[in-house]
This record gives sequence, C-alpha cells and structure tokens, in this order.
Amino acid sequence: MKVCFETFGCRLNRAEALNLEALFLANGWSETKKHSDADLIIIRGCSVTARAQHDTEKYIAQLRAKYPTKRIFTTGCITNKTPEAMIEKAMRSARVNGEFITDVVPTSTARAFLKIQDGCNGKCSYCIVPKFRGTPISEDFDDILLKAKKFIDCGYTEIVVTGCNLSLYHSKGKRLPDVLASLADLPSPGHRIRLGSLEPSDVADDVIDLIGERENICKFLHIPIQSASNKILAEMRRPYKITDLEKLISRATSRIDNLGLGCDVIAGFPSESEYDFKATFDFVKRHAFTNIHAFPYSERPGTMAEKILPVIPRAIRSERAKALTKLVRDKRKAFAEKFKTKKVEIVIEDASTLSGWTSQYLWCTQRSKNIIRLNTPNVRLARKARVEVLVKDCKDDILLVDPI
Ligand code: SF4
Repeated sequence: MKVCFETFGCRLNRAEALNLEALFLANGWSETKKHSDADLIIIRGCSVTARAQHDTEKYIAQLRAKYPTKRIFTTGCITNKTPEAMIEKAMRSARVNGEFITDVVPTSTARAFLKIQDGCNGKCSYCIVPKFRGTPISEDFDDILLKAKKFIDCGYTEIVVTGCNLSLYHSKGKRLPDVLASLADLPSPGHRIRLGSLEPSDVADDVIDLIGERENICKFLHIPIQSASNKILAEMRRPYKITDLEKLISRATSRIDNLGLGCDVIAGFPSESEYDFKATFDFVKRHAFTNIHAFPYSERPGTMAEKILPVIPRAIRSERAKALTKLVRDKRKAFAEKFKTKKVEIVIEDASTLSGWTSQYLWCTQRSKNIIRLNTPNVRLARKARVEVLVKDCKDDILLVDPI
C-alpha cells in the first residue's frame, strides 16, 4: 500500500505530516511522491490566510477531479472535522498484525520537526487558528525527549521545535526553556536545536538567554511582532506594546552573537493608517531583522477583526507588505556579507553541492560546482552532517562556501 503526502503551510503542519508519515511507514505502508501510484493521498492544508486556504482548496479540487476514485483525505488547519480517525482507520486496514507503533521516524532529511505543543487560547482579533486547533495542549515532557532521541538515532542532525504557540508549553511543571535545555543536552555526535517561533511572553527572556548560552541551539529567533503601532496592536488584541518588543529585541541582540532575527508582520490591518504603517516600517528598519514574513491582511470569517473599520484596500495591503519584504531583503544581504572570510557551521542538506543552513538561517552552497569529485572533502563531509565551511563570497543572501 502506498501513501502520498502533500503539505501546505507552516512548520507545525510539516511536523504533523512527519509524524503521520512515520505512523504510516511503521504500519507497513510505503511513501510515494506520485499521485497516480498512491492508494491514499493525504493533504495537510493551511488556512492562515484566505489565499493559503483558497490555494489548498483549489489544489484538492483539481486532484479530486483528476482521480475521482482515489481516497483523498484533507487534514491540518484547513478543517475542523475529525479526519484523523478516518486516516487511522485507512492506515489500520493495511496492518496485518503487531503493535500499533507511533514513534518510528523516516531518515530522509537533515532536519526533523518536533511538535511539542498544539492549540492556543489567545484572543488575537484576526486569528482563526484557535477555532481549528482548540485550547492549548502540550506533549508529555519525557515523551518529547524520547522522540528527539529517536530522531538523533535515526540520523537527523537538526531538530526544529514547533508548536502552535510554543510559549504556552506546560508539562510536569516544565516550560519551553526546560524543553530547549534538555533537548540541547541530549547525547549525540553533534545535533543542534532550532526554535520555531517565539511569541513575546513570560518565557521569552529565559529562551533568549539559553540561545545565547548554548552552543548547539541555533542563533536564530523568529518573533511574530505583527505590528509596531500600539494602536494597531491593541486592535489586534496582541498582549504587548512596542516597549515590550523593544526590550525583547534589545535583550536578544545583546545576548546572542551574530543573531539571525525574523519577524511576522500583518500589513494593512483594518484601520492601519499611513502613520501606523510608518511606525511599523521604521521599527523594522531600526532593528536587525534578517527575515520577514510580511502578509497582506486577510479577512477570516468569524473573527473580530472583520468588524474593524476602515478596511484597507487590498492594493495598499500588498504594497505595504512588499515594502517591508524589500526592506528586510536588503538588510538580509548586508547580514550575509558579514560572514565573508569567516567559518560557519552548516547542517548539510545536499552533500553534492555542500548546501545547507547556517545556525542563523542563511543558505550556503559550494562556490564552484566543478570541484566535486569522488574522495574530495565533499564526499568525506557527507558522512558528517554538521560541518564547518569557509565563506568565500556572497550572491545576494546566499553564502558561497568552500570546504575546509
Ligand atoms: S497567539 Fe494569537 S495569532 Fe498566535 S495562534 Fe494564538 S490567537 Fe492566533
């Protein structure tokens, strides 16, 4: 029996897809990338924006039209029904005998997504996620460590910690900093930990300190700031003000050397004036951001934000998102330049081109494609997933490297 997975959206969806995939493999299924070969197609959809939802639904409709007799299941944030039970049933139908194993992982990539939390009880006025994901639940602390250990044993080098709202993690008196510290301490030949996204919250300072202190926690922080106008933050019902963001970023940049700093911003939220947008733009300009997801605001039916006026025309929302994206693209290039002539450590995703991500989330690739031969350093490096390389040049925000 063959299963084909298609995943849209964020790391949480990918982490869940990985778990599901593992479950299927453990139950005797094999994976295929071809729809035509699959006995079952599972699509993890995304509904974070109207556009993402539309794209997913369109894709599913096309697939259903092309393969009318195939079993196609939709799951993830795009539905609040309970298809997991159906999926489980389909999976069990292939099982002949033996235990129902849930924690075996495939070994096809350098990075594994470890989901430790789900759900959110936030009241953000634009957000539809709590409706689909429900109230916060946390994975058992000991189970997380066991699962991470299995990832390491299977050959994964980077463990990406994901969740719907990681700052809400709570199990057996342990919070997010405890999880990160314990994951970093796991014995291994050289794994590293990457944090998904961090809400400004009561655990943020401790998380920042840990990132600064622990060699094997990636020097990258992604903060969903959403806006830097107090008026808009209040309309969004985000539980912080600009001064809190300033403090957080100042702590992060002072305690973490060479920090890669990412953010999410919603552009053109209802009632966002030119003045409000300028405040956000100036904030992003003033701080050392190296990544941004700037989304044009997207109406989600049933949210409080739908009632906020005035609505900003779509063209202006897109214009504002584009301006922010361009601003950070330029800052990212300047950030990449800083690594020229320096050694950086990467987790190799493709040994044939010496490609992979640095701790700061910059993509590296080999400077010259012609020096890859059998028994060259590349081939030796391929046996070690976390390696040092020398940055010789940059092309935009990509580091061009040589083996050491
Ligand atoms: S913190 Fe706000 S934006 Fe994030 S999932 Fe919860 S309600 Fe949505």
